[in-house]
Amino acid sequence: MKKLQMVDLHSQYQKIKPEIDKALFDVLETSAYINGPAVKEFQTNLETYLGVKHVIPCANGTDALQIAMMGLGLEQGDEVITADFTFAATVEVIALLKLTPVLVDVEADTFNMDIEALKKAITPKTKAIVPVHLFGQCANMEAILKIAKAHNLYVIEDNAQAIGADYTFSDGTVKKSGTMGIVGTTSFFPSKNLGCYGDGGAIFTDDDALANKLVGIVNHGMYTRYYHDVVGVNSRLDSIQAAILNVKLPHLNNYCNARRVAARFYNEAFKNQKNIITPSTLKTCNSICDTCNCHVFHQYTIRVKDVDRNALHQFLLDAGIPCAIYYPVPLHLQKAYADKRYNEADFKITNQLVQEVLSLPMHTELDNAQLTFITSKVIEFISKN
Ligand SMILES: *Cc1c(COP(=O)(O)O)cnc(C)c1O
Repeated sequence: MKKLQMVDLHSQYQKIKPEIDKALFDVLETSAYINGPAVKEFQTNLETYLGVKHVIPCANGTDALQIAMMGLGLEQGDEVITADFTFAATVEVIALLKLTPVLVDVEADTFNMDIEALKKAITPKTKAIVPVHLFGQCANMEAILKIAKAHNLYVIEDNAQAIGADYTFSDGTVKKSGTMGIVGTTSFFPSKNLGCYGDGGAIFTDDDALANKLVGIVNHGMYTRYYHDVVGVNSRLDSIQAAILNVKLPHLNNYCNARRVAARFYNEAFKNQKNIITPSTLKTCNSICDTCNCHVFHQYTIRVKDVDRNALHQFLLDAGIPCAIYYPVPLHLQKAYADKRYNEADFKITNQLVQEVLSLPMHTELDNAQLTFITSKVIEFISKN
């Protein structure tokens, strides 16, 4: 059996090696390392793929969130609501910009922002909602957009984990994740669903005026060379990373599909296990089908009931199965973000999830032998304990 990895980037590279190597050599030959033709080409390719008017490439997914918030003109004291159960980058940039983060609980089944909790958190100071499409599936965007409209709030989608996912509205309209709010952001960190070979990120919007602002902010606030109209940052996607992404983007749908095939294998293997709750898909699509992109499985995260999750984690690691706890501490309890404003009773679900979740290996290169081994070891532990 091929060695198990949480993410197998090497095997994935081997399959596209000639294309990648050529793309890299082309950049070296042109020697246009910053803002070279590959960057413009990727921007256009991603706009087409997402069906969005403007893509603004930048240095990473954290910058993308920060720049999006700067572009919207959010100011000190403005409240920004986001999910308590996510990677810290989301709340980090809110805090860095001296905005006020307001964390809310999530839904136990989808791991995404809870709509009732969101409604409860809105105050006259609220300016924006940042739904995170966690683990590869969109938050309840229909409800979130409706609430945002009623209260005149910006919706900034943190799409770092769900690029390629579709969201189906109740009227049948289908939109790509990250293209529903005023602005969406993503990360091309190597392990993300569309990963480059270093750091990278992008911001997407249909709003021309906002796009124009963002283009300046990523480049030192310059709209004319050496004229600095606003305070900006230096955040660029370099040409080498863009060239890699140009090769990988046409494979993204196949990559998402390979992840779904692995997810289906896991679901099937665990279906009679009463102690394992497999990830649920949105109501609009109750199965993991080939034709539907409603879940792109950035992670395959199970919840265990009446099982010692930490012991299972260690048992799998000892068996040579990499697996991880995403996330072990809710953001409202992290030292950097804990705040007297928060009330434990408002975080019942995140407090419970951090005890129950376990993410199993999930990537584009998993084969049946590996999946059989992983699932048999999980079941072995659960039957013995
Ligand atoms: C990875 C990630 C980010 C940050 O992306 P970087 O490119 O690592 O800066 C932000 N939000 C979420 C939900 C992520 O998973």
